[in-house]
Amino acid sequence: MFKTIETHVRKQVAPAALRAEFRQHEFETMRPFCLLVFCLSILIWLVFDLIVSFLGGQGFTWLSYLFITLLGSLTVVLRFTRRSHHFDVLNLLFITAITLGMRLVIEGIPVALRPVWLVLGVSTVLYAVSVLPVRRWSFFCAMAITWVVLNPFYHTRIGPDELEGAMLISYAVFLSGLVIYSYLQMRKAKLHNFYLSKVLLDQAYVDALTEIPNRRSFMVQADRQLRLATAEQYLAMIDIDNFKRVNDRFGHDVGDEVLKRVALHIKASMADYAFARLGGEEFAIFFQGLDQQGAEQRVAALCQRVREDVGEHPVTVSIGLARVGQGDSLTTALVRADQALYAAKHSGKDRFVLWSARLADQG
Ligand code: GH3
Ligand code: MG
Ligand code: MG
Repeated sequence: MFKTIETHVRKQVAPAALRAEFRQHEFETMRPFCLLVFCLSILIWLVFDLIVSFLGGQGFTWLSYLFITLLGSLTVVLRFTRRSHHFDVLNLLFITAITLGMRLVIEGIPVALRPVWLVLGVSTVLYAVSVLPVRRWSFFCAMAITWVVLNPFYHTRIGPDELEGAMLISYAVFLSGLVIYSYLQMRKAKLHNFYLSKVLLDQAYVDALTEIPNRRSFMVQADRQLRLATAEQYLAMIDIDNFKRVNDRFGHDVGDEVLKRVALHIKASMADYAFARLGGEEFAIFFQGLDQQGAEQRVAALCQRVREDVGEHPVTVSIGLARVGQGDSLTTALVRADQALYAAKHSGKDRFVLWSARLADQG
């Protein structure tokens, strides 16, 4: 089974909508980390700026204040950024500002030391960008900005054809290749993980035969609605009549087809409510926002719809309907709907019965 899912996932190229969902999810979970990276970057830059300003005798100028304000403002903006595609742009602005700030600091050290520090700066920035939740275009733009602003041949008195220059170019190629490769591989692995967990989660809440929600899904949804409820609600339990006879006469496969057909009727007529296959040939619906008359009309219409579906193997259904009052638990509601269903079966089938205290006494 796991192999089938794995093959299914591997074969499918993640659709655009899923990719967008993944990016948003990724950004939301990594937002605190992004904030940490921004703050640490500012702190490290400030430490170096202070060292160069005071030990290097350059003085702490208005430019330093300008960069602190700029970087600080972008971090504040990040604090309120909610969409991943906004972060793609914000991150580029931050990269531009911090690399310019780094250039400013490095311009304050002796010229012979600059190439090494510029390349160190590039390595740090590229590594940081490769672990942030940015899209491909944003990642490659960040890379280009970093190499342009921190170009080790600009203002450093070394040429690309000299020994040091040739070594720097080789290192730049190697570093860029490594960072691109690890960024792409990591994105792929994360997307795959996201896709796989989504498929598994979907399967955990869907009934394999009828492809409608299963019991687990129903319990979660009904429980949530029960807690949010402000008005009365109704729970219906549906059971196919004489289903065993269908199986015995026509075989299990035909029985399965009948189950799917009934599930389709429920899906088509109850799309506004939580519904599920509870197991076997039993289904349930949780009505919210309907009064007694509305709920009764709905279940009566469902009985009629199944009855009038005169396909190859016609069936009927019986339904137990129970009012779910405030303070009632889901278990109580299910027990009552079951009692009402029992009454529907024993009064001739192909009908619905509304639960009343009298049924509980009989049960
Ligand atoms: P009643 O009208 O009283 O509900 O009678 P019934 O025959 O429907 O009730 P019963 O509970 O005796 O039979 C249910 C049958 O449903 C028994 C079981 O073999 C069959 N069943 C349960 N799950 C499945 C399934 O997934 N596929 C098929 N084909 N049959 C199933
Ligand atoms: Mg049954
Ligand atoms: Mg039955």
